[in-house]
Order: sequence, then structure tokens, then C-alpha cells
Amino acid sequence: MKNKNNLTMEKLKALCNNRGFIFAGSEIYGGLANTWDYGPLGVELKNNIKREWWKFFVQEDKNSVGMDGGILMNPNVWVASGHVAGFSDPLMDCKDCKTRHRADHLIENSKQGKGINAEALGEKGMESFVTDNGVTCPNCGKHNWTGIRQFSLMFKTQRGVTDDSTSTVYLRPETAQSQFVNFLNLQRASRLKVPFGVGQIGKAFRNEITPGNFTFRTIEFEQLEYQLFTKESSSLNDYEVFKNKAMQFYIERLGIDKKELRFKDHAVLCHYAKAAVDAEYNFPFGFGEIGGTHHRGQHDLGSHAQHSGKSMEYTCPITNEKFIPTVVESSHGADRLVLAVLSDAYHEENLGTEETPDIRIVLKIKPSIAPYKVAVLPLQKKGLSEKSDEVFSLLSKHFMATYDDAASIGKRYRRQDEIGTPFCITIDYETLEDNAVTIRYRDTMEQERIKIDDLVNKLYKAITG
Ligand SMILES: [Zn+2]
Repeated sequence: MKNKNNLTMEKLKALCNNRGFIFAGSEIYGGLANTWDYGPLGVELKNNIKREWWKFFVQEDKNSVGMDGGILMNPNVWVASGHVAGFSDPLMDCKDCKTRHRADHLIENSKQGKGINAEALGEKGMESFVTDNGVTCPNCGKHNWTGIRQFSLMFKTQRGVTDDSTSTVYLRPETAQSQFVNFLNLQRASRLKVPFGVGQIGKAFRNEITPGNFTFRTIEFEQLEYQLFTKESSSLNDYEVFKNKAMQFYIERLGIDKKELRFKDHAVLCHYAKAAVDAEYNFPFGFGEIGGTHHRGQHDLGSHAQHSGKSMEYTCPITNEKFIPTVVESSHGADRLVLAVLSDAYHEENLGTEETPDIRIVLKIKPSIAPYKVAVLPLQKKGLSEKSDEVFSLLSKHFMATYDDAASIGKRYRRQDEIGTPFCITIDYETLEDNAVTIRYRDTMEQERIKIDDLVNKLYKAITG
């Protein structure tokens, strides 16, 4: 499948690998399924997206603070959150070819199950659907299944030297619990009044068997999670506000095309949730979730109060009323946002004619989140490197900059287009006389002569404006 810009996942994967955005994990050892490493450009893009999120959700909101919790937590956290008992995938094994499949995916991808929401059937319902409809194995085509077994999605590890169950700790499957268990600390230390919110960026881990579309589904991923602690009475309104805020973030801050985004309400709600919605992007493989807004009720704080024996009540300083705040969560996947930004930014432009095409590949990434903001390109190697070094050193104090003096200037422009660098600065022999350079714009390919003294200001405006 292709997206609006003629992009396939294979093309995107190749570009990411060739240019240094994303490499397959542990590649020289044959890899490890669904793990990926970010290269020089990928780390810049991901960091820029994370910084932009932090700015939008934490920095620019006077009722918000941030935190950075640990990956390992007391195992009772995961008992209270419900993950120990219920965070699992319903798996069925094919007795013929011994492959393992998620029952809900098996049903939804079968011709009998077209348009069915398998999750809503429940475990027993899914099992009978597969039996009654003779759903076959996508690997070998036989119908010879085990029953459904629930497979925990949490990675377990042992603390200390003994392998007994009392030393089991989990790699967190979500970051949100840090905000919940620290609710009292956060509120007291920052003297915030409900409603207030806490943002956090961090790694989470899920032991999924489902193969992912490139970095779309991975066993290790980074979450951007914001928890709003609010009053029950205003919580549904807050939910609407944060649902729209997420969309605003994707469109205005990440530059993602509005037409490629949509909301999808959850078909099944958790027993404590009043509302939940996914935000989806139209990837080359189809629509996929990039974030979500969830009304979690009083479930999180209430459950931690019950399991820890500590009161999670907040006292309103005006009315003295005591209550457990309601949580509205805004959650986003950093890796999926990287993938959405790349998919959306990819363009192929024919600068030649129909008979002799000349295809320019250009990533039209919003300048504020582009990996490199500017490339410094000496027109010739001879006699210009000193001046070019000077310009690089000036610019790199302000912006992530790159330097390239290999190959023709046309080829170098194309190389920068392909990695999304919004501005190229060319130093020529005239520069030595007039202390001016040529700035070339990625999207329009227009060029302009500008004094070196004005360069930093000009770029700042172009990047933030
Ligand atoms: Zn099979």
C-alpha cells in the first residue's frame, strides 16, 4: 500500500536505514524482532518531537509540571493497576504448524470476521467464533487450534541473586503509574491546585508477539504521557479539551497534515472509564493509533489508596472538601509520532519532464522539528574551508547544523532535501569579499544572498515563525 505521497513502508524503511534515521536492532547478530535503534538523524528528530511535546503540554501551561519516574517499581504498583491480573494478549496456537496468533487479530483478519470487533466478543466469544466459523491458520491454512491462553504482556525480571517469585520485578508497561503513585508528592511539592497536570516522557516495555509495521509496534517504546488530576464534575469537559489539544499538537506543532488524521472512539471501555478515544494517522499501511485521550475516572488513585493503605485524597483549599481526583490522560507514542512525521513529510517531485524525469525526494519536515536545521556547504573545497568552518562554528552554537563539502553542489542540495534540512548555506569566493552567503530554501528551492551577520536572526525567525 502507498500513502498520498507515493510512499510505501519499504521505501520509508530503506530511506531511514540509508540516511541514518533508524536501523534494525542488533543487526550484525541477525537482529532481534521488533527492536530498532535510532541513528544520528533519528535521535535528533525524536528529541525535537519530545521537546515540542514537553513545551506544549508542560512548559506553556501554568498548571502543569513534569517528572521522570523509574522504570522499575514496587511490584504491588502493577497489582493495584490491574496489570498483573489483566494485562495480557489472548493467544491461540496452531497445533499443525506450531505458530502462535492473537485471537482478536486472527478473527479480524479472516474473511468471516470482516468488520467484526473481536475484542468485544470476550475470550469465550472469540474462541467459539474461531471454532464455529472454521477460521484457518494464516500460516498453514489448517483449522486445528488450541484454546485461548492469556499471555502476560509484562516483561519480568529478577531482583538480586535468587530466582524466587518474591524477587520478581517488572519492566513498566506504561509510564503513567509514576504520576499516580507520586500524586501526593507532586501536589504537595509544587503546591498546585486541582485541576493540575503532570507530564512525563519515558520508556515502556510490552512483550508482544505481534510483528509490527517497522517501528509502529515494538516491544520497547517511548511514551509521552500527561495526567490531568481534576474534579469529577468538570472531567468530561476536560476530556474534550485534551482530545482536541492532542490534535492541535499533531497539526500545529508537528506539522502533520490535518486530512491524514482522525479520531476513533474506543469500541470497548474499561469498567472505570467514561470515555476514551484514539487519534490515528493514515500511514502507508493504513490508519494506526499515534495517541489517545482517556477518561480514567477515580480508578487509578482509588486503587492505589486501597492497595497501599495511604489516603490519596485531595483537600480543596477553598471549600475544605476532601475528594479523590478524577484523571484525564493524554498519551502519545514518541516512536509512532516519528513514523507519522516521516510518512507525512515524504514527497517525490519531478523536476524534469515526463520523458526525462528527474525525481527529487524531499522530507518537508516542519523546520522546528527537522533533525538538522541548516547545512553549511562550501562551493569549492579550495580556499573556502576556513570561512566555512567559521560559519559552521557560528551556526552550530544556535542550531543543529551539518557540514558537507563532498560532491557537486546540486548533489549536496539533494542529499539535504532527502533528510529534511530546511536551509542550506553556500559559501563561495565572493563570500571572502562581501561576507555574505547564499541561503537556499528546501521547499521552494529559492535562493537568496544574505550577510553572515544577519544569518542567525534570519534562521531563528524562519525556524520559529
Ligand atoms: Zn498453522
